[in-house]
Amino acid sequence: MLVDNDAPLAPLTTLRLGGPARRLVTAVTDAEVVETVRAADAAGEPLLVIGGGSNLVIGDAGFDGTVLRIATEGFALDGTLLELAAGEVWTDAVARAVDAGLAGIEFLAGIPGSAGATPVQNVGAYGQEVAETITEVVAYDRLLHETVTLTGEDCAFSYRHSRFKADPDRYVVLRVRFRLADEGGMSSPVKYAEVARTLGVEAGQRVELRTAYETVLKLRAGKGMVLDPEDHDTWSAGSFFTNPVLTDDQYAAFLRRLDGLAAPAYPAGEGRTKTSAAWLIDNAGFRKGHGTGRPATLSTKHTLALTNRGGATTEDLLALAREVRDGVRAAFGVELVNEPVMVGVTL
Ligand SMILES: Cc1cc2nc3c(=O)[nH]c(=O)nc-3n(C[C@H](O)[C@H](O)[C@H](O)COP(=O)(O)OP(=O)(O)OC[C@H]3O[C@@H](n4cnc5c(N)ncnc54)[C@H](O)[C@@H]3O)c2cc1C
Repeated sequence: MLVDNDAPLAPLTTLRLGGPARRLVTAVTDAEVVETVRAADAAGEPLLVIGGGSNLVIGDAGFDGTVLRIATEGFALDGTLLELAAGEVWTDAVARAVDAGLAGIEFLAGIPGSAGATPVQNVGAYGQEVAETITEVVAYDRLLHETVTLTGEDCAFSYRHSRFKADPDRYVVLRVRFRLADEGGMSSPVKYAEVARTLGVEAGQRVELRTAYETVLKLRAGKGMVLDPEDHDTWSAGSFFTNPVLTDDQYAAFLRRLDGLAAPAYPAGEGRTKTSAAWLIDNAGFRKGHGTGRPATLSTKHTLALTNRGGATTEDLLALAREVRDGVRAAFGVELVNEPVMVGVTL
Protein backbone atom coordinates (compact mmCIF):
# COMPACT_ATOMS: atom_id res chain seq x y z
CA MET A 1 0.00 0.00 0.00
CA LEU A 2 1.42 3.35 -1.08
CA VAL A 3 0.67 6.46 0.96
CA ASP A 4 1.42 10.04 -0.16
CA ASN A 5 0.62 13.26 1.66
CA ASP A 6 -0.49 16.45 -0.06
CA ALA A 7 -0.62 14.57 -3.36
CA PRO A 8 -1.75 16.32 -6.56
CA LEU A 9 -4.95 14.80 -7.94
CA ALA A 10 -4.99 16.47 -11.37
CA PRO A 11 -2.63 13.85 -12.90
CA LEU A 12 -5.01 11.12 -11.73
CA THR A 13 -7.95 12.52 -13.70
CA THR A 14 -8.53 12.54 -17.46
CA LEU A 15 -9.45 16.24 -17.24
CA ARG A 16 -6.09 16.91 -15.51
CA LEU A 17 -7.94 19.12 -13.04
CA GLY A 18 -8.26 19.32 -9.27
CA GLY A 19 -6.15 20.37 -6.29
CA PRO A 20 -4.27 18.04 -3.91
CA ALA A 21 -5.47 15.28 -1.60
CA ARG A 22 -4.44 15.61 2.03
CA ARG A 23 -3.59 11.90 1.86
CA LEU A 24 -3.54 9.59 -1.17
CA VAL A 25 -3.57 5.83 -0.61
CA THR A 26 -3.02 3.46 -3.53
CA ALA A 27 -4.36 -0.01 -2.74
CA VAL A 28 -3.35 -3.07 -4.77
CA THR A 29 -5.31 -5.79 -2.93
CA ASP A 30 -8.92 -6.06 -1.78
CA ALA A 31 -7.66 -6.33 1.80
CA GLU A 32 -5.81 -3.01 1.46
CA VAL A 33 -8.93 -1.39 0.04
CA VAL A 34 -11.08 -2.62 2.92
CA GLU A 35 -8.45 -1.73 5.54
CA THR A 36 -8.18 1.83 4.18
CA VAL A 37 -11.94 2.34 4.07
CA ARG A 38 -12.38 0.91 7.59
CA ALA A 39 -9.63 3.10 9.02
CA ALA A 40 -10.98 6.27 7.38
CA ASP A 41 -14.54 5.53 8.53
CA ALA A 42 -13.41 4.74 12.07
CA ALA A 43 -11.54 8.04 12.23
CA GLY A 44 -14.47 9.99 10.74
CA GLU A 45 -12.14 10.95 7.89
CA PRO A 46 -13.71 12.08 4.56
CA LEU A 47 -13.05 9.45 1.87
CA LEU A 48 -13.00 9.71 -1.91
CA VAL A 49 -12.64 6.50 -3.93
CA ILE A 50 -11.15 6.81 -7.40
CA GLY A 51 -10.38 4.42 -10.23
CA GLY A 52 -9.24 5.93 -13.53
CA GLY A 53 -10.44 9.46 -12.70
CA SER A 54 -12.34 9.64 -15.99
CA ASN A 55 -15.68 10.66 -14.55
CA LEU A 56 -14.57 13.13 -11.92
CA VAL A 57 -14.53 16.91 -11.65
CA ILE A 58 -12.42 17.72 -8.60
CA GLY A 59 -12.40 21.27 -7.24
CA ASP A 60 -9.30 23.45 -7.36
CA ALA A 61 -9.08 23.25 -3.55
CA GLY A 62 -8.58 19.47 -3.79
CA PHE A 63 -9.84 16.99 -1.22
CA ASP A 64 -9.34 17.48 2.51
CA GLY A 65 -9.33 13.82 3.48
CA THR A 66 -8.19 10.42 2.21
CA VAL A 67 -8.33 9.64 -1.49
CA LEU A 68 -8.27 5.88 -2.08
CA ARG A 69 -7.02 4.94 -5.53
CA ILE A 70 -8.04 1.38 -6.35
CA ALA A 71 -5.29 -0.35 -8.32
CA THR A 72 -6.21 -4.01 -7.77
CA GLU A 73 -5.66 -6.46 -10.60
CA GLY A 74 -7.57 -9.59 -11.62
CA PHE A 75 -9.10 -10.93 -14.84
CA ALA A 76 -10.58 -14.42 -14.38
CA LEU A 77 -12.52 -16.15 -17.11
CA ASP A 78 -14.45 -19.34 -16.42
CA GLY A 79 -16.37 -20.36 -19.53
CA THR A 80 -18.52 -17.31 -20.25
CA LEU A 81 -18.26 -15.95 -16.70
CA LEU A 82 -15.83 -13.09 -16.23
CA GLU A 83 -14.71 -11.73 -12.87
CA LEU A 84 -12.79 -8.46 -12.82
CA ALA A 85 -11.01 -6.82 -9.90
CA ALA A 86 -12.21 -3.24 -9.44
CA GLY A 87 -8.85 -1.79 -10.46
CA GLU A 88 -8.66 -3.57 -13.82
CA VAL A 89 -8.45 -1.16 -16.74
CA TRP A 90 -11.81 -1.45 -18.52
CA THR A 91 -10.52 -1.03 -22.08
CA ASP A 92 -8.00 -3.86 -21.54
CA ALA A 93 -10.70 -6.14 -20.10
CA VAL A 94 -12.96 -5.54 -23.11
CA ALA A 95 -10.09 -6.27 -25.49
CA ARG A 96 -9.32 -9.53 -23.66
CA ALA A 97 -12.96 -10.62 -23.68
CA VAL A 98 -13.11 -10.01 -27.44
CA ASP A 99 -9.82 -11.93 -27.88
CA ALA A 100 -11.49 -14.81 -26.03
CA GLY A 101 -14.37 -14.68 -28.56
CA LEU A 102 -16.97 -13.57 -26.02
CA ALA A 103 -19.74 -11.09 -26.74
CA GLY A 104 -21.63 -8.81 -24.36
CA ILE A 105 -19.28 -5.86 -23.75
CA GLU A 106 -17.77 -5.35 -27.24
CA PHE A 107 -19.71 -2.11 -27.88
CA LEU A 108 -18.23 -0.69 -24.65
CA ALA A 109 -14.71 -0.72 -26.14
CA GLY A 110 -12.61 2.38 -25.57
CA ILE A 111 -14.44 3.66 -22.48
CA PRO A 112 -11.74 4.87 -20.06
CA GLY A 113 -11.58 4.04 -16.39
CA SER A 114 -11.68 1.02 -14.14
CA ALA A 115 -13.89 -2.06 -14.09
CA GLY A 116 -15.01 -1.23 -10.55
CA ALA A 117 -16.55 2.05 -11.66
CA THR A 118 -18.60 0.51 -14.48
CA PRO A 119 -21.56 -0.44 -12.26
CA VAL A 120 -21.51 2.98 -10.57
CA GLN A 121 -23.06 4.85 -13.48
CA ASN A 122 -24.11 1.74 -15.44
CA VAL A 123 -21.57 2.52 -18.13
CA GLY A 124 -23.03 2.40 -21.59
CA ALA A 125 -22.44 3.32 -25.21
CA TYR A 126 -23.55 2.39 -28.70
CA GLY A 127 -26.65 0.50 -27.55
CA GLN A 128 -25.01 -1.58 -24.81
CA GLU A 129 -24.69 -1.04 -21.05
CA VAL A 130 -23.08 -3.09 -18.30
CA ALA A 131 -26.48 -3.70 -16.66
CA GLU A 132 -27.09 -6.29 -19.41
CA THR A 133 -24.15 -8.50 -18.42
CA ILE A 134 -23.35 -7.83 -14.74
CA THR A 135 -24.53 -10.75 -12.61
CA GLU A 136 -22.92 -9.78 -9.29
CA VAL A 137 -20.97 -7.00 -7.66
CA VAL A 138 -18.82 -7.74 -4.63
CA ALA A 139 -18.51 -4.61 -2.51
CA TYR A 140 -17.46 -3.48 0.93
CA ASP A 141 -20.58 -2.12 2.64
CA ARG A 142 -19.59 0.85 4.82
CA LEU A 143 -22.91 0.73 6.67
CA LEU A 144 -22.80 -2.97 7.58
CA HIS A 145 -18.97 -2.99 7.89
CA GLU A 146 -18.72 -6.18 5.82
CA THR A 147 -18.13 -7.42 2.30
CA VAL A 148 -21.41 -8.14 0.52
CA THR A 149 -22.44 -9.61 -2.83
CA LEU A 150 -25.15 -7.75 -4.71
CA THR A 151 -27.01 -9.33 -7.62
CA GLY A 152 -27.54 -7.41 -10.85
CA GLU A 153 -31.08 -6.73 -9.68
CA ASP A 154 -29.87 -5.40 -6.30
CA CYS A 155 -27.78 -2.87 -8.22
CA ALA A 156 -30.98 -1.04 -9.40
CA PHE A 157 -29.47 -0.11 -12.74
CA SER A 158 -31.09 2.52 -14.92
CA TYR A 159 -29.81 5.00 -17.51
CA ARG A 160 -26.37 6.14 -16.21
CA HIS A 161 -27.51 5.35 -12.70
CA SER A 162 -27.42 2.64 -10.06
CA ARG A 163 -27.72 1.95 -6.38
CA PHE A 164 -24.03 2.89 -6.04
CA LYS A 165 -24.59 6.33 -7.55
CA ALA A 166 -27.78 6.84 -5.52
CA ASP A 167 -25.96 6.05 -2.26
CA PRO A 168 -22.40 7.17 -3.01
CA ASP A 169 -20.99 6.83 0.50
CA ARG A 170 -22.13 3.27 1.14
CA TYR A 171 -20.37 0.80 -1.19
CA VAL A 172 -16.81 0.37 -2.36
CA VAL A 173 -16.78 -2.02 -5.31
CA LEU A 174 -14.14 -4.75 -5.05
CA ARG A 175 -15.06 -7.16 -7.89
CA VAL A 176 -17.53 -7.21 -10.75
CA ARG A 177 -18.89 -10.42 -12.32
CA PHE A 178 -20.26 -10.59 -15.84
CA ARG A 179 -22.03 -13.27 -17.84
CA LEU A 180 -20.79 -12.94 -21.42
CA ALA A 181 -21.98 -14.98 -24.40
CA ASP A 182 -20.31 -17.31 -26.87
CA GLU A 183 -22.02 -16.44 -30.14
CA GLY A 184 -19.58 -18.40 -32.30
CA GLY A 185 -17.35 -15.40 -32.96
CA MET A 186 -20.27 -13.04 -33.64
CA SER A 187 -21.25 -9.90 -31.73
CA SER A 188 -24.36 -9.11 -29.74
CA PRO A 189 -27.11 -7.73 -32.01
CA VAL A 190 -26.22 -4.26 -33.30
CA LYS A 191 -28.65 -1.80 -31.71
CA TYR A 192 -27.25 1.65 -32.39
CA ALA A 193 -28.25 3.26 -35.70
CA GLU A 194 -24.85 4.90 -36.32
CA VAL A 195 -23.04 1.57 -35.81
CA ALA A 196 -25.52 -0.26 -38.07
CA ARG A 197 -25.09 2.41 -40.75
CA THR A 198 -21.30 2.28 -40.52
CA LEU A 199 -21.32 -1.51 -40.77
CA GLY A 200 -23.92 -1.55 -43.54
CA VAL A 201 -26.29 -3.83 -41.60
CA GLU A 202 -29.81 -3.55 -40.26
CA ALA A 203 -30.30 -2.91 -36.52
CA GLY A 204 -30.73 -6.29 -34.79
CA GLN A 205 -28.19 -8.11 -36.98
CA ARG A 206 -24.98 -9.58 -35.58
CA VAL A 207 -21.59 -8.93 -37.12
CA GLU A 208 -18.17 -10.46 -36.58
CA LEU A 209 -17.19 -9.74 -32.96
CA ARG A 210 -13.86 -8.13 -33.82
CA THR A 211 -15.45 -6.00 -36.53
CA ALA A 212 -17.98 -4.66 -33.98
CA TYR A 213 -15.17 -3.89 -31.52
CA GLU A 214 -12.97 -2.16 -34.08
CA THR A 215 -15.86 -0.18 -35.55
CA VAL A 216 -16.78 1.22 -32.15
CA LEU A 217 -13.17 2.17 -31.43
CA LYS A 218 -12.96 3.99 -34.76
CA LEU A 219 -16.25 5.84 -34.24
CA ARG A 220 -15.21 6.83 -30.72
CA ALA A 221 -11.76 8.04 -31.82
CA GLY A 222 -13.39 10.27 -34.45
CA LYS A 223 -15.30 11.98 -31.63
CA GLY A 224 -12.31 12.31 -29.28
CA MET A 225 -13.82 9.67 -27.01
CA VAL A 226 -10.71 7.46 -26.80
CA LEU A 227 -7.95 8.75 -24.53
CA ASP A 228 -4.95 10.22 -26.32
CA PRO A 229 -2.57 12.29 -24.15
CA GLU A 230 -1.47 14.27 -27.24
CA ASP A 231 -5.03 15.31 -28.10
CA HIS A 232 -6.62 17.93 -25.83
CA ASP A 233 -10.06 16.99 -27.18
CA THR A 234 -9.72 13.87 -25.01
CA TRP A 235 -8.75 15.80 -21.86
CA SER A 236 -12.35 15.51 -20.74
CA ALA A 237 -14.68 13.46 -18.59
CA GLY A 238 -16.43 12.08 -21.68
CA SER A 239 -20.00 13.32 -22.08
CA PHE A 240 -20.40 16.18 -19.62
CA PHE A 241 -24.22 16.12 -19.61
CA THR A 242 -26.63 13.18 -19.61
CA ASN A 243 -29.35 12.99 -22.24
CA PRO A 244 -32.41 14.62 -20.64
CA VAL A 245 -35.33 12.30 -19.89
CA LEU A 246 -38.54 14.36 -20.02
CA THR A 247 -41.97 13.64 -18.57
CA ASP A 248 -44.94 13.94 -20.96
CA ASP A 249 -45.65 17.50 -19.73
CA GLN A 250 -42.02 18.54 -20.04
CA TYR A 251 -41.83 16.99 -23.49
CA ALA A 252 -44.97 18.84 -24.65
CA ALA A 253 -43.48 22.12 -23.37
CA PHE A 254 -40.21 21.30 -25.15
CA LEU A 255 -42.01 20.63 -28.46
CA ARG A 256 -43.68 24.05 -28.20
CA ARG A 257 -40.24 25.67 -27.90
CA LEU A 258 -38.82 23.91 -30.96
CA ASP A 259 -40.39 26.26 -33.48
CA GLY A 260 -40.36 23.81 -36.38
CA LEU A 261 -37.02 22.14 -35.51
CA ALA A 262 -37.03 18.33 -35.24
CA ALA A 263 -35.20 17.15 -32.12
CA PRO A 264 -34.20 13.51 -31.49
CA ALA A 265 -36.74 11.67 -29.32
CA TYR A 266 -36.53 8.14 -27.94
CA PRO A 267 -39.01 6.28 -25.73
CA ALA A 268 -37.60 6.08 -22.18
CA GLY A 269 -40.25 4.10 -20.31
CA GLU A 270 -43.86 4.83 -19.45
CA GLY A 271 -44.65 8.53 -19.95
CA ARG A 272 -41.02 9.49 -20.60
CA THR A 273 -39.06 10.62 -23.63
CA LYS A 274 -35.32 10.95 -23.92
CA THR A 275 -33.80 13.64 -26.10
CA SER A 276 -30.19 14.36 -27.04
CA ALA A 277 -28.00 16.65 -24.94
CA ALA A 278 -25.58 17.07 -27.87
CA TRP A 279 -28.44 18.21 -30.14
CA LEU A 280 -29.67 20.70 -27.54
CA ILE A 281 -26.20 22.17 -27.04
CA ASP A 282 -25.56 22.46 -30.77
CA ASN A 283 -28.96 24.00 -31.50
CA ALA A 284 -28.64 26.43 -28.60
CA GLY A 285 -25.71 27.86 -30.58
CA PHE A 286 -22.73 26.17 -28.89
CA ARG A 287 -20.76 24.63 -31.71
CA LYS A 288 -17.82 22.24 -31.58
CA GLY A 289 -14.77 24.11 -30.26
CA HIS A 290 -16.95 26.79 -28.58
CA GLY A 291 -14.78 28.98 -26.36
CA THR A 292 -11.69 28.71 -28.59
CA GLY A 293 -8.87 30.70 -27.05
CA ARG A 294 -10.08 30.08 -23.51
CA PRO A 295 -8.40 27.49 -21.25
CA ALA A 296 -11.53 25.27 -21.25
CA THR A 297 -13.57 24.78 -24.43
CA LEU A 298 -16.01 22.38 -26.01
CA SER A 299 -14.17 19.61 -27.82
CA THR A 300 -13.55 20.38 -31.49
CA LYS A 301 -14.91 16.89 -32.26
CA HIS A 302 -17.98 16.60 -30.01
CA THR A 303 -20.19 19.26 -28.41
CA LEU A 304 -20.88 17.06 -25.37
CA ALA A 305 -17.29 16.96 -24.16
CA LEU A 306 -15.92 19.87 -22.12
CA THR A 307 -12.15 19.91 -22.38
CA ASN A 308 -9.04 21.30 -20.73
CA ARG A 309 -6.77 22.82 -23.40
CA GLY A 310 -3.76 22.55 -21.08
CA GLY A 311 -3.83 25.42 -18.60
CA ALA A 312 -7.41 25.28 -17.32
CA THR A 313 -8.58 25.29 -13.72
CA THR A 314 -11.70 23.52 -12.53
CA GLU A 315 -13.38 26.92 -12.20
CA ASP A 316 -12.68 27.59 -15.92
CA LEU A 317 -14.35 24.31 -16.81
CA LEU A 318 -17.33 24.97 -14.56
CA ALA A 319 -17.78 28.47 -16.04
CA LEU A 320 -18.07 26.85 -19.48
CA ALA A 321 -20.44 24.17 -18.17
CA ARG A 322 -22.70 26.83 -16.61
CA GLU A 323 -22.68 28.87 -19.81
CA VAL A 324 -23.81 25.81 -21.82
CA ARG A 325 -26.39 24.70 -19.26
CA ASP A 326 -27.88 28.21 -19.00
CA GLY A 327 -27.89 28.65 -22.79
CA VAL A 328 -29.78 25.39 -23.32
CA ARG A 329 -32.28 26.33 -20.60
CA ALA A 330 -32.86 29.74 -22.21
CA ALA A 331 -33.28 28.25 -25.71
CA PHE A 332 -35.35 25.15 -24.93
CA GLY A 333 -36.46 25.25 -21.28
CA VAL A 334 -34.60 21.97 -20.64
CA GLU A 335 -32.27 21.58 -17.64
CA LEU A 336 -29.04 19.75 -18.45
CA VAL A 337 -27.63 17.60 -15.65
CA ASN A 338 -23.93 16.80 -15.30
CA GLU A 339 -22.83 13.19 -15.80
CA PRO A 340 -19.41 13.32 -14.05
CA VAL A 341 -19.23 13.21 -10.28
CA MET A 342 -18.43 16.61 -8.70
CA VAL A 343 -16.00 16.66 -5.79
CA GLY A 344 -16.06 19.80 -3.64
CA VAL A 345 -17.79 21.81 -6.38
CA THR A 346 -21.28 22.23 -7.84
CA LEU A 347 -22.52 23.31 -11.22
C1 LIG B 1 -12.92 10.25 -23.20
C2 LIG B 1 -13.99 9.67 -22.32
C3 LIG B 1 -15.03 8.93 -22.88
C4 LIG B 1 -16.04 8.38 -22.06
N1 LIG B 1 -17.04 7.65 -22.64
C5 LIG B 1 -18.00 7.09 -21.86
C6 LIG B 1 -19.06 6.32 -22.44
O1 LIG B 1 -19.10 6.13 -23.65
N2 LIG B 1 -20.01 5.81 -21.62
C7 LIG B 1 -19.97 5.98 -20.27
O2 LIG B 1 -20.86 5.46 -19.59
N3 LIG B 1 -18.98 6.70 -19.69
C8 LIG B 1 -18.01 7.27 -20.45
N4 LIG B 1 -17.02 8.01 -19.87
C9 LIG B 1 -17.03 8.24 -18.41
C10 LIG B 1 -16.12 7.27 -17.64
O3 LIG B 1 -15.17 6.70 -18.45
C11 LIG B 1 -16.90 6.15 -16.95
O4 LIG B 1 -17.87 6.69 -16.11
C12 LIG B 1 -15.98 5.23 -16.14
O5 LIG B 1 -16.70 4.10 -15.71
C13 LIG B 1 -15.36 5.90 -14.93
O6 LIG B 1 -14.41 5.03 -14.40
P1 LIG B 1 -13.24 5.54 -13.48
O7 LIG B 1 -12.54 4.35 -12.95
O8 LIG B 1 -12.40 6.50 -14.24
O9 LIG B 1 -14.06 6.27 -12.33
P2 LIG B 1 -13.62 7.56 -11.52
O10 LIG B 1 -13.71 8.75 -12.41
O11 LIG B 1 -12.34 7.33 -10.83
O12 LIG B 1 -14.81 7.63 -10.46
C14 LIG B 1 -16.13 7.91 -10.89
C15 LIG B 1 -17.10 7.67 -9.72
O13 LIG B 1 -17.10 6.28 -9.40
C16 LIG B 1 -16.69 6.09 -8.05
N5 LIG B 1 -15.87 4.88 -8.03
C17 LIG B 1 -14.79 4.59 -8.79
N6 LIG B 1 -14.35 3.37 -8.50
C18 LIG B 1 -15.15 2.88 -7.53
C19 LIG B 1 -15.20 1.66 -6.80
N7 LIG B 1 -14.31 0.67 -7.00
N8 LIG B 1 -16.17 1.51 -5.87
C20 LIG B 1 -17.09 2.48 -5.63
N9 LIG B 1 -17.09 3.65 -6.30
C21 LIG B 1 -16.12 3.84 -7.23
C22 LIG B 1 -15.93 7.34 -7.67
O14 LIG B 1 -15.97 7.57 -6.27
C23 LIG B 1 -16.68 8.39 -8.44
O15 LIG B 1 -17.86 8.74 -7.74
C24 LIG B 1 -16.00 8.58 -20.66
C25 LIG B 1 -14.95 9.32 -20.10
C26 LIG B 1 -13.95 9.88 -20.93
C27 LIG B 1 -12.83 10.66 -20.32
